[in-house]
Amino acid sequence: MTSIARERSLGEQFPRLAANGGLDAPELQRLRARARRFAEEHLRPRALEIDRRTGEEPGWFDWNLVRAGAEHGMLSFLIPKPDGGAGGLATQAAVVMEELCAACPGIALIFGAHALGISPLLLGGPSQWDGVLAELVASECTGEPQLMACAITEPEAGTDVEDPDLLRLARITSHARRVPGGFRLSGTKRFISNGSVARWITILMPTDPRHAAETWTCFLVDTRSEGFAVSRVEHKMGQRACPAAELTFEDVFVPAERIVGREADGAAATTIVLACSRPPVGAIATGIARGAYERVLDWLHEDPTAKGLLERQHVQLALADMEEEIHLARQLYMDAATELDHAALGDAMSHPVVRSLAHVPASIRGRAPVRGWLHSDRARDATIALLHRTTSEHAVTRSLALSSMAKARGGDVAMRVTGAALELAGLRAGPVRAELEKLWRDAKLTQIYEGTNQLNRLEVYRGLCHEETIQCLPPLRRIHPDTDGKTRTNAHAHAHPDADTDRNASANGDGGRS
Ligand SMILES: Cc1cc2nc3c(=O)[nH]c(=O)nc-3n(C[C@H](O)[C@H](O)[C@H](O)COP(=O)(O)OP(=O)(O)OC[C@H]3O[C@@H](n4cnc5c(N)ncnc54)[C@H](O)[C@@H]3O)c2cc1C
Repeated sequence: MTSIARERSLGEQFPRLAANGGLDAPELQRLRARARRFAEEHLRPRALEIDRRTGEEPGWFDWNLVRAGAEHGMLSFLIPKPDGGAGGLATQAAVVMEELCAACPGIALIFGAHALGISPLLLGGPSQWDGVLAELVASECTGEPQLMACAITEPEAGTDVEDPDLLRLARITSHARRVPGGFRLSGTKRFISNGSVARWITILMPTDPRHAAETWTCFLVDTRSEGFAVSRVEHKMGQRACPAAELTFEDVFVPAERIVGREADGAAATTIVLACSRPPVGAIATGIARGAYERVLDWLHEDPTAKGLLERQHVQLALADMEEEIHLARQLYMDAATELDHAALGDAMSHPVVRSLAHVPASIRGRAPVRGWLHSDRARDATIALLHRTTSEHAVTRSLALSSMAKARGGDVAMRVTGAALELAGLRAGPVRAELEKLWRDAKLTQIYEGTNQLNRLEVYRGLCHEETIQCLPPLRRIHPDTDGKTRTNAHAHAHPDADTDRNASANGDGGRS
C-alpha cells in the first residue's frame, strides 16, 4: 500500500542526527529500513483482520507474524553483538517501535513486550550472555522463534510496583521461597503482555514477603516448568494482537543461577528497566499518532469523499497541529533515549572490560570453570561495581524523569492526534475510518502501561522539578573472605567503603537530596 505521506529520512525526523552525526546513523538507518519493510509488508495489510479476530478470540495468536518479524531481525536487535544480535539500546528500540506502530501497534507490541522481557537480562551482566540470549538468536535463525515477556504487575499491585518508594507500601502476594539449589515461586501476575505465548519470562518477586521492597528479586522463568499456568487471557480494548495474560505460579522451581543480577536488587533493576523501556513507549505513542496522521492525509488527498476539504483553513490548522504534536513527541523520546544510551547507561555497555569479555568466544565462556565464575557472586558484584563506575544515581534518576516525560506526553499526543484524525474524517471516511478508530483504541494503552501517566509525571516532578536523586543503582557489596575460607557478602550494605563514589558525589553536587 503506498501512502501519500512522503517517507521522511532520519535526518528530517531528528534534525540533531543530521547536524552532529553523534549516533551511528547508517546502522540506525538500516535497522529502521528493515522495520519499515516489515511493517509495510506484514503489519499494515493485516492490522484490521488481526484486531477483529483477537477481539472475538483473545487467546488467538498468529505465530506467522512472529516468524516474519524474526526474518527481519525484530527479535534480536537488542541482544549484544557477541551473542548474534544487533547490540541496540533504547534509541534503536524507539526507532523500531515508531515504525512498527505507525502500521499496527497491536502487532508491534508483541515485539515491544519481547524487548521488555530481554531488558533485565542485558543489565544482569555476563552471567546472562550465554544461555537464553544466545538461544533466542538461534531460535530466530531456525524459523521457530521464542518470545519473552516481563512480569511485574500483580492483582493487588500495579502502580505501586513500578516505583521503588511505592513498592514499600504495595500489597504483594507473590513469594519466591528459598529451597536447596534455587527458589520456588508462587503467586499470580496480571496483565502480562506476551504472557500466554512467551517461552521465557523475567519476573519480579520478593524472597521475603514481609520485606518485599528490600528483597524484590528478578528471576528468569522457563514457562515449560511444572507449576506454571496461564489462568486467563484478557479481552482488550486496543493493541489486541498482543495477548495480555494472567499467570499463575504454583511452586515453580527456578535454579539459583537464573537469578537475574543479584538477589534483592530487583527494585533498582525495575527502575533502570523502566528508564530504558519508557522512551520506546513514547515512540509507540508517536508511531500511533503518525499512523493516524498519515492515514487522514492520504484520505484527504485521494478520496472523493474528502474533496475540497484540504482547501479549508480549519482542516489545514488541524493538520499543522498534528504535525507539531508528533514532532514534539518524537523529539522527547529521542532526547530521553539519547541521554540514556550516552549519559546514563551507554558507558557501562561500551566499557572496555565488557567489550573484551564479549570477545571471549562462547565456546570458552561455556566451559565449566568460566561459566562457574560468570555466575558467581564475584562476577555479579563486579557488574554492579562497573555500573557504579560508569554512571551515577543522579544520572539514572534524570534519565528516568526524561523517559517518563516522553512516555506521558507521547501517550497524550497519541490520544489527541487519533481523536483529531477521527473528527476530521467524521462519518464520511469509509474504510479508513475503521483504521482510525482502531488506532484511537490502540492509543489508550500508552497512557496506562509502563506506569500510568500520573505516576510518570510524578517521576518528572521528582527528577526534574525537585531534582531529587533516588536510589536506583543496586548497592555495592564487598566479598569478605571468612576465616573458614568461604565467602560472605555484606548484603544490606548500601556502599562499598572503598568504592569509586566520586562520580556519584560530583554528579549529585548539592542537587542530590536523596
Ligand atoms: C493491556 C495491558 C498490558 C500490560 N502489560 C504489562 C506487562 O507486560 N508487564 C507488567 O508487569 N505489567 C503490564 N501491565 C500492567 C500495567 O503496567 C498496569 O496496569 C499499570 O501499572 C497500572 O496499574 P493498575 O492497573 O493496577 O492501576 P492502579 O495502580 O490501580 O491505578 C489506578 C489509577 O490510580 C492512579 N494511581 C495509583 N497510584 C497512584 C499514586 N501513588 N499517585 C497518583 N496516582 C495513582 C493511577 O494513575 C490510575 O489512574 C499491562 C497493563 C495492561 C492494561
